[in-house]
Amino acid sequence: MSELLFFACGETSHEMSRLLRGVRRERRVFPAGAFLYRSGTRSVLFDTGYAPEPWRAGPGGWAYRRMLPPRVGPGDTIAEQLDPASVTHVVLSHLHPDHIGGVRFFPNAAFVLSDGVRRTLERPRLRDGVLRRLLPTWFETATVLPSPVFGAGPHGLRTADLFGDGSYLLVDLPGHAHGHLGALIEDSVLLAGDAAWGRDLLGEERRIRALPRLVGHDMDEQRRTARGLLAAEREGLRLLFSHDRQPTDRNLL
Ligand SMILES: [Zn+2]
Repeated sequence: MSELLFFACGETSHEMSRLLRGVRRERRVFPAGAFLYRSGTRSVLFDTGYAPEPWRAGPGGWAYRRMLPPRVGPGDTIAEQLDPASVTHVVLSHLHPDHIGGVRFFPNAAFVLSDGVRRTLERPRLRDGVLRRLLPTWFETATVLPSPVFGAGPHGLRTADLFGDGSYLLVDLPGHAHGHLGALIEDSVLLAGDAAWGRDLLGEERRIRALPRLVGHDMDEQRRTARGLLAAEREGLRLLFSHDRQPTDRNLL
């Protein structure tokens, strides 16, 4: 039997009217989600949530926290919600702080990074929002699987079969960040990462205001990705986004 579990690893909140045009004033909470897929001897974690406090991530970390204040309470980090030693693989959708904060807990896992993510890691620009100090020093020599090579996959998506058995397809979802990745699990659930901030905001990209637009990598690509995801959803795929609240007490497959 296989299972897919959701963990909320801290959260942040935003005034929605500052992010999007034409919405009511409303403060919305965004959990930093991580998903664990367990099947046979494999245990594959998709993203790792926020780092525990204090961050000590330098001036960039200070600026990031002012813009997007994280709340990470007792029991919130990924390491407090599962046994880190049981995780065999860690897929990073991209390198934003709310996705890489728990990398430090998985020194023995094999990491999966897209080519774009690797390149960002080598030469980050300011707007890439990479807080290197959130990554452990051993990350430089961590086991990293060969970069996925994408080809035409099911539901019109560009995919790469991670284990060669069709159970876990990496999905190319460009736009939000360079090399941004999703994962299609057992051809039923698609982990869509930050392709949108939430399911209800998918397809609403033209409403995103100028400032949050700046932080995104490529708005045209993000819009194309959104159209592809909406089409895949119409074919019956379930889309799960990193910052939507999902049930934590059940198998999501
Ligand atoms: Zn992000």
